[in-house]
Amino acid sequence: MSETQVFQLPKSKEPAALLPGTLYIVATPIGNLEDITLRALRILGSVDLIAAEDTRRTGLLLQAYGLKKPLVSCFAHNEEKQSKRLLELLQEGKTVALVSDAGMPGISDPGARLIRQAAAAGISLTVAPGPSAGLTALVASGLDTDAFAFGGFFPRENKVRKAWLSDFGSFPGTLIFYESPKRLLATLSFLQAAWGDRHCCVARELTKRYEEFIRGSLPDVIGRLEQTAEVKGEIVVILEGYHKVKEDGLAGKELESLGRSLLAQGLSKKEASRRLACETGLAAKDMYALLVSWDQGAV
Ligand code: SAM
Repeated sequence: MSETQVFQLPKSKEPAALLPGTLYIVATPIGNLEDITLRALRILGSVDLIAAEDTRRTGLLLQAYGLKKPLVSCFAHNEEKQSKRLLELLQEGKTVALVSDAGMPGISDPGARLIRQAAAAGISLTVAPGPSAGLTALVASGLDTDAFAFGGFFPRENKVRKAWLSDFGSFPGTLIFYESPKRLLATLSFLQAAWGDRHCCVARELTKRYEEFIRGSLPDVIGRLEQTAEVKGEIVVILEGYHKVKEDGLAGKELESLGRSLLAQGLSKKEASRRLACETGLAAKDMYALLVSWDQGAV
């Protein structure tokens, strides 16, 4: 049985007292209560006021850490009005922490408006970063992390969905989006019909007791979900990006003309092979070997 470690806290480089008139954007756990930073706790315990998406939920988080602070609600339907009031308090020199129910405020959560207005008004602001479901799922997915895009919640309305598909359909990096468990199967089937058999990872209940990753091609994952009586919990979907060769079957001639045009633009073989790999989904080292073979008169 392993022993529980006892940690000694390093001295913080930041002065213990908070800066008057500063907005502190504080990330909170996405499931596991231990996923909160020491700095976040110090800030939450020291500010004059906490602006929370749901004061009851944040109250429980504070209680878990033995903290007590005045809370005001700042959620989707009152953010405009509350932002005005909070900006006034900040301008009077009060310190305010902004938190959402889980993860980073402003990421598919309220907060972005207050942050934008505070920045525009020249109010000092800082972030105590922490977990966010999208990035947590991405790093565990095993899919490419060099380039990625976040698509928010998969849209429900047909018109918005069409625009979403056209915005992200040809993006070559990995795509991250949020979806409800009830709509997951329909959404994955819809995406398979629109974009074909890309790889994906469904990340469920991250950092919680029933954390699960379902990885595979879209048809594999759909097949596995169909065997499940009911998908439950919180979900992030990570989807492989668009690769020209895989989806359009880029022919040898097209590959050659793309490669030659990149070299003609002055890109080195290394740079051109990276670009080709991104466009085609093939390995950069194979693309490099192809470019070198042209020097040797193979094509
Ligand atoms: N601000 C949060 C963040 O930084 O990730 C996102 C808030 S958004 C309203 C909530 C959605 O995030 C959920 O419906 C789910 O798609 C995703 N999510 C949040 N926590 C999660 C978890 N523990 N596991 C999987 N997905 C999660």
